[in-house]
Amino acid sequence: MVPAKEQQTEDKKLEVMRHSAAHVMAEAVQSIFPEAKFGIGPPISDGFYYDFDLPRPLNPDDLPAIAAKMDEIIAQDLPFVREEVTKEEARQRFAAQPYKLELIDEIPDDEVSLYRQGKFIDLCRGPHVGSTGEIKAFRLVSIAGAYWRGDEHRPMLQRIYGVAFTTKKALEEYLEKLAEAAKRDHRRLGRELDLYSIHEEAGPGLVCWHPKGAVVRWVIEDFWKEEHIKRGYDIIYTPHIAKLGLWKTSGHWEFYQDYLYSPMEVEGEEYVIKPMNCLYHILIYKTKLRSYRELPIRYAELGTVYRYERSGVLHGLSRVRGFTQDDAHIFCRFDQLEDEVVGVLDLALFMTDTFGFANYQVLLSTRPEKYAGTAQMWLEATETLARALDRKNIAYKIDPGEGVFYGPKIDIKFEDAVGRAWQGPTIQIDFNLPQRFSVTCIGEDGKEHPVAMVHRTVLGSMERFMASLIEHYGGAFPVWLAPVQVTLIPVADRHLEYARKLEAELKNEGVRLEVDDQSGTVNHKIRQAQLNKVPYMLVIGDKEVAAETVSVRWRSGQQQNNLPFDIFKKSIREAIIERAKN
Ligand SMILES: [Zn+2]
Ligand SMILES: [Zn+2]
Repeated sequence: MVPAKEQQTEDKKLEVMRHSAAHVMAEAVQSIFPEAKFGIGPPISDGFYYDFDLPRPLNPDDLPAIAAKMDEIIAQDLPFVREEVTKEEARQRFAAQPYKLELIDEIPDDEVSLYRQGKFIDLCRGPHVGSTGEIKAFRLVSIAGAYWRGDEHRPMLQRIYGVAFTTKKALEEYLEKLAEAAKRDHRRLGRELDLYSIHEEAGPGLVCWHPKGAVVRWVIEDFWKEEHIKRGYDIIYTPHIAKLGLWKTSGHWEFYQDYLYSPMEVEGEEYVIKPMNCLYHILIYKTKLRSYRELPIRYAELGTVYRYERSGVLHGLSRVRGFTQDDAHIFCRFDQLEDEVVGVLDLALFMTDTFGFANYQVLLSTRPEKYAGTAQMWLEATETLARALDRKNIAYKIDPGEGVFYGPKIDIKFEDAVGRAWQGPTIQIDFNLPQRFSVTCIGEDGKEHPVAMVHRTVLGSMERFMASLIEHYGGAFPVWLAPVQVTLIPVADRHLEYARKLEAELKNEGVRLEVDDQSGTVNHKIRQAQLNKVPYMLVIGDKEVAAETVSVRWRSGQQQNNLPFDIFKKSIREAIIERAKN
């Protein structure tokens, strides 16, 4: 183990090296495109990028030439030289660089610093490595479009991404991981497995679930509802729009306006499309006076919400504009809060485990600078969350000051098969809404008392959770989730009748299957089913028909010939009911 402090200085050194690599890339681009205009070139996790305005679009074939030029610059071991100049002088030096001029204008000081290596000068605060030779191992990996300053009204620049490490070995290992992640990219698998689509003509970030993706979703949703009902939740449904006044009362209009879509007018009243489900749950709670004896009340909803996100940050299913939260709100007495949080943790980890995510990290976020409620309320609620985590023996880290303004929260991030963390369950205590909407109960003393409110999701959103599942399993869903669980492959037409009989029997057992009755060889059909990541392929020929058996081929390549059909039927049934993890 590297001690935390040393790790920090190591990380800092890497960052400086990566940032220096960005300057070297800019010099290489300048030597190939002398008329290039430069945006910015910061380090990022694993590497760096630089944004360029170039006379023609780049394509991946341009990267080797740029990288070769970078190798030359690195081999020359040119020193990075810092220079301090007045703003006026900087303006003259960057007279042909409109983006740099814009940045210079925004610097509050009179002096600005420049860094030069070889023939390239950049506006930069630094620091940098001593010389270009200190850049040990890099690779240019991709090209993307990026609006200047992330603003879609400004010019679209071309961004080149690179990765850089201190050793060739570390770089190779990283590239291998990247290749593995690319194979699992849910956007590619989503298309290949026919799970979903997003249409530019309909709008970015709006997801259409195709039949095969929709099956996975309803299996998850059925399981989710069943499990919530077992645990004392009530399922509700609420509308997609509501009057603007409601969002003003809640404070969303004031604090979250940037994420809300503009109001629409209906009969002279303004309505907004809902960015969250909470307010409707409060309205249902408030339809009658609630006695303390009725609590806790737990309302659960698979509620679809819409939030504005810049088109530049949208990403497949994992960052979208319309999504369905697996939402719930718990209204309880303060003396019930700890047990309620324990209950949510229990459910969240049961879900995480059932879907096959073995590792997770837990963060407890505490009071930020601006907050609703009192410091004492925050202290007690934060301690309640901590006690609940302790009761479940869950190790966690404190994220100081990272709570939302209305209350402390627990975030659980689960790790997928290649070690990437996904935002999963969240549990948030709210001091704001109950007060704004006077959410109360009648206590033992016959008086009104404030009620604790908890917002929670256990999967996050159906869209992002689906993205994580696709990437975790590389598209090969466990049997209970697989869109098609069995492909029946008759060897010849005369085996079709028996295949149809098995089809009917399996369907009766709730198995999702297809009969491949197309022409083509058995091997071709097996390959096809394997590409579709179907868990079981059943090959049916003369022997199988005669003996009422099937020859089973697993997705993994394992095979078992002449298995009595009843035994196969029983085993697939069990795998589905038990939600087996493969
Ligand atoms: Zn720099
Ligand atoms: Zn909520």
